[in-house]
Amino acid sequence: MSKEIRILIVDDDRLIRVAVKRILSRSGQNFIVDDVSNTSLLLEALKTKKYDCIILDYVLADATGIDILKDLNNFVINIPVIMMTGQGDELIAVKALKAGASDYLPKSILSHSDAQEILSYTIQNAIDVFKIKYERERTANALRKSEERYRSLVEHSPMLIMRFFPDDKTLSFVNDGFCEYFNTSREAMIGESVLPYILKENDDKSLSIINSLTRGNPVLSFDHYIETGNGTKWQLWTLQAFFDTQGNILEYQCIGEDITPLKEAEKELYNQKVYFQSILDSQENIIIVTDKKEIIEANHSFLIFFGYRNLDEFKKEHSDVIDLSIDIPGYISKKNNGHWIDALLNESDTERLISFKPYGSHNAKIFSVNINILSLEREVYVVTFSDVTALEQKSKSFEEKASIDALTGIFNKDKFYEMLANSIDASKRYKTSLSLIFFDIDHFKDINDTYGHQTGDEVLQTLVKIIKGCGRELDIFARWGGEEFVVLLPRTDLNNALKAAEKFRKRVMNTEFMNVKHLTCSFGVAALVKNDDVDKFVSRADKALYKAKESGRNRVVGIKAKL
Ligand code: GH3
Ligand code: MG
Ligand code: MG
Repeated sequence: MSKEIRILIVDDDRLIRVAVKRILSRSGQNFIVDDVSNTSLLLEALKTKKYDCIILDYVLADATGIDILKDLNNFVINIPVIMMTGQGDELIAVKALKAGASDYLPKSILSHSDAQEILSYTIQNAIDVFKIKYERERTANALRKSEERYRSLVEHSPMLIMRFFPDDKTLSFVNDGFCEYFNTSREAMIGESVLPYILKENDDKSLSIINSLTRGNPVLSFDHYIETGNGTKWQLWTLQAFFDTQGNILEYQCIGEDITPLKEAEKELYNQKVYFQSILDSQENIIIVTDKKEIIEANHSFLIFFGYRNLDEFKKEHSDVIDLSIDIPGYISKKNNGHWIDALLNESDTERLISFKPYGSHNAKIFSVNINILSLEREVYVVTFSDVTALEQKSKSFEEKASIDALTGIFNKDKFYEMLANSIDASKRYKTSLSLIFFDIDHFKDINDTYGHQTGDEVLQTLVKIIKGCGRELDIFARWGGEEFVVLLPRTDLNNALKAAEKFRKRVMNTEFMNVKHLTCSFGVAALVKNDDVDKFVSRADKALYKAKESGRNRVVGIKAKL
């Protein structure tokens, strides 16, 4: 069975209605036919049922078919109407078609032998044609609506939108946003050249930007500024080319956005950076900014000291400044455990020192390091290196002075005590022998008295020189006080210490001193034993010296400890 086709016949002539019905029922197609006799019944029927086609008499008792057709057009546009006309009423037919009827049929056809065929065909055709027409209208409507929507979106958008033609680059459209921004009107802009809006006062460059767009690369974004009465305004333009199916450019569209606040922030940031850098560079101290992973900034002093033209050059060769530090005990260096920045942050009280060699010099410099946190969340630190080389050297020389005897240049008694204590500890720990020689110039008072104090001093200096000359590298030689000296001999037992003392004695005796000519010394020797401490050890050697003096001077006396 073919698809149902619902037909509504509208005619005040019952015979016509019956005739049409009969013809359609014989057509062999699945026509379902209702009929009404006047306008109000027609409207009623349309409210309750859906029809595929209306066959309408051109003149009814209550209205003309044309009027009804007009009403129907306002009321239900989507049903095709076939107007039934009288014999020879072509004028009515034309009016009907103009008023929106899909087709017309003279009533005389009903008595024709082909009535069945003509009627079915006319109905079918009216339905088909109507469908096509309806679809076309719907599509056109949808298109129009979408275009209207697009237009109103674009026209009233706060973004700056302009469109222009490819041949002469004149504007075909600008939107409200554009007009407002440049304080102009649409009428003033249409037909004007777009080039000054792409790049100001550089038409060639603007053209080359436009011409760089291709089908493969149809979109491009770029910054642009325009000087206005209210200062420089920056725009970010996005230019797009639209192509036809042959690949020819139909039109260009350019969408702009004001990015002046962004540009101003960028500029401000740049100024701040320059300002910050100029502060850094004005400092004599070496300053770096680091996030622990890398050096972010470094000042002029840094570059000069390490001999680099810029930070990038430095970074090419070194990952961190700590790599250049010199390893000195107690100083910060790459040998420290963990990150050196953490070491700086942890030991906040003590003064932290680091040593670097300046570019082109062998003399390392000593720096006091100071750290400040620039940003906690980003872990950014400012590290300042202040050159304290002169200060450090001064304090070192103080330290030296405090341990050296000024007249003879050998260790003094304080320093000797310190070294003696350490040596006793080491000997006991490593079970090595250790001996001590005390010696004193014989009758030195007489020398002073006879030749003067000056000569006495010179004697002391010469004596030191000759003892140094015949001692071992390992021996620790010190002035105990006055004309009394002490020699500590590591890895030496009593026997060998006695031999060494004897060697010293002979050497002194055989030396010809300025003015004084000859002099002698007395020697006391002791060797370390297990239960010795500094005092016991020293006092045994001292006692031995006393014995040497007592028993006639110019001799060596050793005292063995009683165990
Ligand atoms: P002894 O053989 O008993 O050691 O006799 P001595 O004269 O050497 O001993 P004494 O302790 O009586 O005298 C030591 C002298 O050494 C007294 C002091 O003036 C002198 N003396 C001490 N220190 C210095 C010094 O730095 N320079 C000079 N020129 N003389 C000094
Ligand atoms: Mg003496
Ligand atoms: Mg003395």
